[in-house]
Amino acid sequence: MRRPISLILLFTAGLAGCIASTQEEVQLGASYAAQINAKLPLVQDPEVNAYINRLGDSLAKVADTRNLQWHFYVVDSKEVNAFAVPGGYVYVNRGLIERFTKLDELATTMGHEIGHVTQRHTMKQQQKSQGIGIGTTLACVLTRVCSAPGVGDLVNVGAGAVMAGFSREDEAESDRMGIAFALRAGIDPRGMINTFEILLAERKAKPDGLDAMFMTHPLEESRIQQAKEVIAQIPAAQMVGLTEDTPAFQRFKAKVKSLPPSPAGSR
Ligand SMILES: [Zn+2]
Repeated sequence: MRRPISLILLFTAGLAGCIASTQEEVQLGASYAAQINAKLPLVQDPEVNAYINRLGDSLAKVADTRNLQWHFYVVDSKEVNAFAVPGGYVYVNRGLIERFTKLDELATTMGHEIGHVTQRHTMKQQQKSQGIGIGTTLACVLTRVCSAPGVGDLVNVGAGAVMAGFSREDEAESDRMGIAFALRAGIDPRGMINTFEILLAERKAKPDGLDAMFMTHPLEESRIQQAKEVIAQIPAAQMVGLTEDTPAFQRFKAKVKSLPPSPAGSR
């Protein structure tokens, strides 16, 4: 009779002191994703969804050691942003996709978001914040859809700075992951630097235009420098024959651009 009891004690102690199990993470993520998907306007176009999931799966396949079920969505928001939810849910806003010029920019951005999941950054934050309404807050912070009439009250459920953003260490780690995953998938990791340049140019032109993106993904010179250093350390032989762009990406982008205007409230 003694053994089961000590096992239960161990299990309980483990739960109290440590990060949740993958199963718990997946359950939590599914519940966040359900909240987010109910609140956010998601692009329903089958071609767009097929492409983002095909690209996402090709990156997740080389990134994930836990066999998660991955889901990739395009949010019908002009806001420039991307975000991830624990358990394998990645969202890229239409506003960001429309600013990309090549496949490698989208792929490294998705690799960065996949990195937040594989490195369990949100799960670490979740522990600190008790997780009240995190899904809703996440959705609000990231797209401003909550400034639309009728959903404002939901913002308060999340009680403030639950998702004020990842730490610089987490961001740097996700950048390293995004670079590594793109490389493993045969995609040019320098797309990440191009993405930074696109965002910086946009910030220069419209200083308030990227609040949501920079709130969750601070972009300073040091971050860009670090990413450049990581790429510079990749052996030259591995940097040969990588994909920068494809006709399929350009068709995908054209399709996204041709969709009806994003709904009001999502900017
Ligand atoms: Zn990030």
